[in-house]
Amino acid sequence: MRAEDIANDIREVLLPEERIRQRIAELAREIEQDYGDDEPLLVGVLKGAVMVVSDLARELRIPVTMDWMAVSSYGSGTESTGVVRILKDLDTDLSGRRVLIVEDIIDSGLTLSWLKANLESRGPASVEICALLRKPERLVSDVPVRYVGFDVPNEFVIGYGLDYDEKYRHLRDIAVMQPHAYGASCHCGSADDAATPATH
Ligand code: 5GP
Ligand code: MG
Ligand code: MG
Repeated sequence: MRAEDIANDIREVLLPEERIRQRIAELAREIEQDYGDDEPLLVGVLKGAVMVVSDLARELRIPVTMDWMAVSSYGSGTESTGVVRILKDLDTDLSGRRVLIVEDIIDSGLTLSWLKANLESRGPASVEICALLRKPERLVSDVPVRYVGFDVPNEFVIGYGLDYDEKYRHLRDIAVMQPHAYGASCHCGSADDAATPATH
């Protein structure tokens, strides 16, 4: 797509590249403290978490391994269906491993809650969750998320791995879409309600 079409589809940049980088570095310091030499397995949830996993893994100063899962919870629309299906499973045996699920965003929490239970049933030493973004207004499930990058308003965001209909994943910043770009009537909070680093 053309650069001007992208600009037309974006309402505002919520999290510029540099802020994302800084926050991922902070999360990496916490993860290093918690895991030490235990060599956590980072489980990236395709496709949205690709950027988070690759930046987080390179920021971490401890040994890690990586694996990937694809689950479906969204079609090409913008609302969660709550239906989860494994499209691609892990290659790694989880017995005795310390697993860290890495997600782009937790919205209702239904996907992660299901995924955590599924991985816990495979005999790992532990399963924790790291989500770059969280929409606290929308949480339905009370799944515990150990590492959260930013709490964001209840708006549809794109960029840094996050797509709308497979577009915009390559953008370096995280941005809010113009509602016209996805044909939605906006039921969202105000735009100047900026993202805040999550406390947990
Ligand atoms: P949940 O099951 O927590 O409602 O949905 C989680 C998944 O929905 C995320 O991993 C992501 O793929 C998608 N999702 C939720 N909110 C957004 C959003 O604002 N923008 C985009 N691009 N995807 C979202
Ligand atoms: Mg995701
Ligand atoms: Mg998507």
